[in-house]
Amino acid sequence: MTTPKKPRGRLFFANPGPTNIPDSILHAQAHFTVDFMDADFIELYNHCFDGLKKVVKTNQHLFFYAGSGHAAWEASLVNLFSPNDRLLILETGHFSEKWGEMARAHGLDVQTVPSEWNKGADYEGLKAALEADTGHVIKAVGCVHNETSTGMVMDLPRVRAILDAARHPALLLADTISSLGSLDFRMDEWGIDCAVGGSQKGLMMHTGLSFTAISDKAMKAHQVSTCPKHYFNWTVMLARPHKSFLGTVPTSFFFGLKESLRLLLEEEGMDNVVSRHARLGEAVRRAVQHWSGNQRPRLFSDDPARYSNSVTAVRMPEGFNADDIRKTAMNRFNVSLGGGLSRLSGQVFRIGHMGDLNEPMILGTLSVVEMALKINGVPHAPGGVDAAIAYLAEQG
Ligand code: PLP
Repeated sequence: MTTPKKPRGRLFFANPGPTNIPDSILHAQAHFTVDFMDADFIELYNHCFDGLKKVVKTNQHLFFYAGSGHAAWEASLVNLFSPNDRLLILETGHFSEKWGEMARAHGLDVQTVPSEWNKGADYEGLKAALEADTGHVIKAVGCVHNETSTGMVMDLPRVRAILDAARHPALLLADTISSLGSLDFRMDEWGIDCAVGGSQKGLMMHTGLSFTAISDKAMKAHQVSTCPKHYFNWTVMLARPHKSFLGTVPTSFFFGLKESLRLLLEEEGMDNVVSRHARLGEAVRRAVQHWSGNQRPRLFSDDPARYSNSVTAVRMPEGFNADDIRKTAMNRFNVSLGGGLSRLSGQVFRIGHMGDLNEPMILGTLSVVEMALKINGVPHAPGGVDAAIAYLAEQG
């Protein structure tokens, strides 16, 4: 018997972004070309503009970019800073490191508050760094709200409180790429000056549309920023009819975004979106905690206050490669899991539980992970899926 080239059945997408695209968004986005200056399209665009602000929970400014999250990262840096400006980044994992790397490439002076990745952001270290900066050289603090590489969340209100207690005027930048549309996020209430987001995670769309929401205070910083910029220049964008996009507007995304916003804001409601993610995230953790123990696969973080409800990183026991689990899941069962990034390569696999997901999808994924552990001879306590079922059943 030959091995099939591809397993049959629907692809179970359990990557922490991109995420599953609901059929209604897929169909909405598969729209014929329209003139982006057409009145009907402008109406739809403005609807999306206002609706996304509701998801971000801001009444301030918003700019869209045709590009993935990296484009919005870059836009935030070149619009807010000048070469040699100091940006303080809280180290949390692969994505905080990459944002800092990009800032250095733009000539910024990047200071890091170091941390061990499995411990998460060092709030005391942030406090000390701000208090030591009596001359207010630090222009901004950069945080990754949800560190997708480690499955750990940052307490942004606490970061805001630390800045306020230190009476430090630095801007507060938050990467919400894997939190927005999944975890609670409130830009204006939490005093965030720049929120960076993308289309392919909680918004459940294709990759390629990203955005930054910007506070009035950050717009003032933009006025004096001298980093070279043109396509991403907010001042140039504001003079355009869509207040974004210097060239062709990627219209199909906005048909998709309108539907995404309908699902999030009208059909489910943001509070329910957040509680569904909390429920599914906890179910995944119950399964991993059941499998775990000494020398068994376990949660990457051991601090419940930092568990992310949109992604879980599972650390493999010594001598086992996480990529073997991913390969079995993909090649044998058509389930796509996330891998370990940079220094975590081979050490962790990641279960994405963000976006268009429900209980059966999570349980299906967990069953496959448990089968893959067994197939690969990874020691674990069988029955993790039962633990997840028991928890989900208790939730009613
Ligand atoms: N920031 C975070 C937290 C992410 O998870 C990602 C991608 O997964 C990025 C930034 C980079 O975004 P993109 O891959 O869309 O360029």
